[in-house]
Amino acid sequence: MLQGSLSETTRTCGRPGCRCQQGQRHGPHTYLTFKTAEGRSSAVYVPAAGVREAQAGVAAWKRFWRLAGELAVLNREAARARWRAQGRPARRRDAPTGR
Ligand SMILES: [Zn+2]
Repeated sequence: MLQGSLSETTRTCGRPGCRCQQGQRHGPHTYLTFKTAEGRSSAVYVPAAGVREAQAGVAAWKRFWRLAGELAVLNREAARARWRAQGRPARRRDAPTGR
């Protein structure tokens, strides 16, 4: 799996007289964009031959997190049921309220 999302960009080059100067920009080029551990945005160029692999990797990452979220809900509900069966603390005047 691959963390991040795919984006496409077109660009101009510096060659004098190139078609991109008249609006026919180069591309589209695919990039895998992501946040670094320091929180900065970064990107990796994905060549055409790697686009399908990148799409599959990003899809797997999204699926991983969706499943992790579903698992967390199940774990919380299971823990809630267990803890409920273990009983509640005796009521005290200074006990936190709520629920
Ligand atoms: Zn050009």
